[in-house]
Amino acid sequence: MRYISTRGGGTPQSFTQILLGGLAPDGGLYVPATMPALTTAEIERLRPLNYRELAFAVLSIFIDDIPAHDLKSIVDRAYTSSVFRSTAIAPLKTFTQGLNLLQLSNGPTLAFKDMAMQFLGHLFEYVLAKEGRSLNILGATSGDTGSSAEYAMRGKKGIHVFMLSPHERMSAFQRAQMFSLQDANIHNIAIRGVFDDCQDVVKVVSSDASFKAQYRIGAVNSINWARIAAQVVYYFKGYFAATSKAGEEVSFAVPSGNFGNIYAGYVARRMGLPIGRLMLATNENDVLDEFFRTGHYRVRKGAEIHATSSPSMDISKASNFERFVFEIVGRGGAVVAELWQRLEETGSFDLSASQYWVEVKSAGIISGRSTHAERLGTIRRIARDFNVIIDPHTADGVKIGTEAREVGETVICLETALPVKFAATIKEALGAEPVRPAGYENIESLPQRFEVMDPDVDAVKAFIAQHAR
Ligand SMILES: *Cc1c(COP(=O)(O)O)cnc(C)c1O
Repeated sequence: MRYISTRGGGTPQSFTQILLGGLAPDGGLYVPATMPALTTAEIERLRPLNYRELAFAVLSIFIDDIPAHDLKSIVDRAYTSSVFRSTAIAPLKTFTQGLNLLQLSNGPTLAFKDMAMQFLGHLFEYVLAKEGRSLNILGATSGDTGSSAEYAMRGKKGIHVFMLSPHERMSAFQRAQMFSLQDANIHNIAIRGVFDDCQDVVKVVSSDASFKAQYRIGAVNSINWARIAAQVVYYFKGYFAATSKAGEEVSFAVPSGNFGNIYAGYVARRMGLPIGRLMLATNENDVLDEFFRTGHYRVRKGAEIHATSSPSMDISKASNFERFVFEIVGRGGAVVAELWQRLEETGSFDLSASQYWVEVKSAGIISGRSTHAERLGTIRRIARDFNVIIDPHTADGVKIGTEAREVGETVICLETALPVKFAATIKEALGAEPVRPAGYENIESLPQRFEVMDPDVDAVKAFIAQHAR
């Protein structure tokens, strides 16, 4: 399997060649040179597999330049019942006939990003050791991604993590999760400012090519293809858990931000998995809902970005969306390049009047949005009817999943975080905070390790220079 850029430039690369870099040199995102397709018989052969076996089978399609025995061992180390707190790894819970929850949030940081990031940690360590290299991962986080990356990379050889977060702006639980890590290769930098200040520092440091090369700076952002590939696996897992025979269809409801999670579902559908519809859910930041309803993709700026009670979906633009548009325009790199050029210049593009709109409409994706009040209502309803407490992001997905579901349709809602991470909103909805899973009872009282800094590029560079390996 070779990988090409969504903007059509460069030469095809192997999986390990694109693993540690970010964007393609022409500014595009890497995608498989051809979308793999499985026959019904090939899909059904995967049905009896357990999670690790399934992950190996699916990932082998995308990763063909790591020896099979090594890839198997990486997968086996990533998906253990102790890390994911269940032998199923991603168990399916049935609310009622036709309405299910795929539980993806039992990893160390209690959010679905662990499903891909744990694999990435072992994969990075393996590839770096093989190439005799080291990597310093630099990132900015407002919560979920940063902690998931730190728990995946902690203690890994050849890797240091420098994670910037806004000082005193994350929840006490999120802070404790990140700052209580005592591993010598994890460096938390609390920036006096907001998330955008952190992001700006990361951008400036990463755009200094000589600093980047000297200190081997890398990223683990959501455009990394390995993360997408690892997410395809649980669509297969959920599908098999909810069906009993070949060809039966299932739909998925997906709380969406950067379009990574639902894009993995789109890839699974293109591979031949019988997915009826992909139901995309947004919160008040509805750039994606607007696109799928109207064809108009309009990036939000500054004051237009709402701080919501499903904060991990508070995005202004959806980075992985470019991969979807690449397919919609018939894999035309030049068309994508032109659309993103227009986006850069005007902040939007409109496909509704183009020949591509019919392709969007037949891609199997529908969308909906949820407000704060609707989110609370969904949390209350699911607690009342099924005695399950869901987190605010999952609630956004469950809202569209229940509303859009047709008679006889099987819907799997993806659980993207556990409610304990967003206890204040749960308290607002239900009058009481959710019970904490075992091992997380007192994390706020653990000793914390972090560095407080101004949003000062030189200070951050000096810190990296001092601690990088
Ligand atoms: C990251 C995240 C999302 C959004 O997922 P994307 O892949 O960016 O669309 C939704 N919910 C939670 C809890 C998240 O952490």
